[in-house]
Amino acid sequence: MSNPVPAAEGTPPSVAPPTWSPDQGPCRRAPVAAEGFVAQDRALTADVVIVGTGPGGAAAARVLAQAGARVILLEEGPPKARFARNQASAMRHHMQEGGAMVAQGNAYTPIAAGRGVGGGTLINSAIAWRCPDHVLDDWTKLLGTDRFSPAAMKPVYDFLWSYLGIWPTRTDISGGNNDLVVRGVRALGLEGGYLERATPGCSGCGVCYYGCPSLGKASMDLNFLPEAVDAGARIVADCRVEGFLVEGDRVVGVTGRHHDPDTGAAGGRVTVRAGKVLVCAGGVGTPRLLHASGLAERLGPAVGEGLHVHPGNAVLGLCDSPVEMWKGATQGAYFHVPEDPGILPHTFSAPPEVCLGTMGAVGPETKTALAELPNLCGMVVMISDKGHGRVRAHADGRADIRYDFDPNDLERIRLGMRWVARVLLAGGARELFMPVHGTGRYTDPDRLYDALAGKTARDYTMYAAHPMSTCRMGNDPATSVIRPDGRAHALEGLYLADSSIFPTSLGVNPSLTTMAVATVLARGIAGGA
Ligand SMILES: Cc1cc2nc3c(=O)[nH]c(=O)nc-3n(C[C@H](O)[C@H](O)[C@H](O)COP(=O)(O)OP(=O)(O)OC[C@H]3O[C@@H](n4cnc5c(N)ncnc54)[C@H](O)[C@@H]3O)c2cc1C
Ligand code: SF4
Repeated sequence: MSNPVPAAEGTPPSVAPPTWSPDQGPCRRAPVAAEGFVAQDRALTADVVIVGTGPGGAAAARVLAQAGARVILLEEGPPKARFARNQASAMRHHMQEGGAMVAQGNAYTPIAAGRGVGGGTLINSAIAWRCPDHVLDDWTKLLGTDRFSPAAMKPVYDFLWSYLGIWPTRTDISGGNNDLVVRGVRALGLEGGYLERATPGCSGCGVCYYGCPSLGKASMDLNFLPEAVDAGARIVADCRVEGFLVEGDRVVGVTGRHHDPDTGAAGGRVTVRAGKVLVCAGGVGTPRLLHASGLAERLGPAVGEGLHVHPGNAVLGLCDSPVEMWKGATQGAYFHVPEDPGILPHTFSAPPEVCLGTMGAVGPETKTALAELPNLCGMVVMISDKGHGRVRAHADGRADIRYDFDPNDLERIRLGMRWVARVLLAGGARELFMPVHGTGRYTDPDRLYDALAGKTARDYTMYAAHPMSTCRMGNDPATSVIRPDGRAHALEGLYLADSSIFPTSLGVNPSLTTMAVATVLARGIAGGA
């Protein structure tokens, strides 16, 4: 069915990205070749061993391998993307802990993180933001170095924008939900519009969360990692790192084990001795590994502390005509909330079963809800959080996550939801509802806002996909794990370079900043830091 929601008025003419195919240009490679499961034990050596192949590990690997270091990357997930268009398959193969990580605290908050050669970029929406200047200014003060100042980071972001092929979502692939939101944003005169995304070859199929079937997304397996491999790096996948080799005050390698990706059966042990060990296992994965292995005891009290997650909730709207939110760029439009730059609503595309759950569709109501499905539109409200959390490890190696919502954060989510309600109505919705216990359907944003008064975090169906800041950079070993150049305070030979090291919450989607920070740190490491 053709999309009946016209592109927003005043939309700037679409700028077509360069014709793209996986074997063209430096960032447009065929999927990287990685090794998978083997049953035999192996002992390897390298100059640098990197744990994790997400944005942090991949960006660092490229810099280090091109500088001449012998690099080995170890990755828990599968060597090749196992994309299928369903949630169960994505959870099984490409989400950490089977997509079942939940933070306990004053709410139960699901925490999503990617898995496989490419990490979170395999299943994320590729929304691309530069870290706001005010956040980088805070880091400059906190760290006492201008290594990450806006001026220092600008050329790194500029490089990423051209290298990854980042473009504003084009109106020929935006889809009804993004168009509706942009129309509402413009009608209300808000700052916002179509999102920039790292999707040089996007055809708008709307399934980013399950992996891009057309290789249109600039996931790490198509750019940084093949370049690193071309420069001599080696990627060993299906291999979970479990421990560290330590001699005196120096970390000299890692130990891991292969697991069969289909049966889960344990395979060969992998030992890598290396001059430098770079942990890039993500905002949950890095502290989980440091605690599970016992190394956290040597690294000080800050390991796993200070978790931020960019939590949020959604508002859905019902329109009179079809929107078909499953068509078009998965997350392609946003706006800024005027009173608070730390509240960032953006569109989303949810599978029908999630929408049906939110609509209370059980029994006979299912028939009505099914008829309404094509007419749904919606946005998520994501906030830069001040909430308090931490990551440890259970005895079996799974993450033990605690996260408590700050009451002020809850109020900011509520404020953001009122703005989303206004935008959806201005864009064409006639009725609104939300996944919050004890709420109904609304036509007035103020009534929707009032209905959220007194609700606790547990009443909301919270979601978070940006765990970060759990092994922070800093100068004080009591409150940080690594120095501003990436080296651990307490042990030689150990470095971190992923989303776990951010000194504060970003307030914008973090993968580009993860790549940028890892690039800067890896240049220093390559130079002998
Ligand atoms: C559904 C979803 C949508 C998102 N959308 C966006 C978006 O649109 N834009 C954006 O900027 N960000 C988005 N994000 C967030 C973004 O993907 C992450 O912030 C980013 O990937 C973090 O990079 P990282 O390198 O720190 O860790 P990760 O990408 O999490 O990579 C860590 C890697 O380490 C591996 N690993 C973990 N533990 C071990 C171990 N013990 N041994 C070996 N390997 C291990 C993991 O399997 C994983 O591959 C999204 C995330 C999700 C889950
Ligand atoms: S919307 Fe579809 S084509 Fe575009 S990046 Fe996402 S999965 Fe790929």
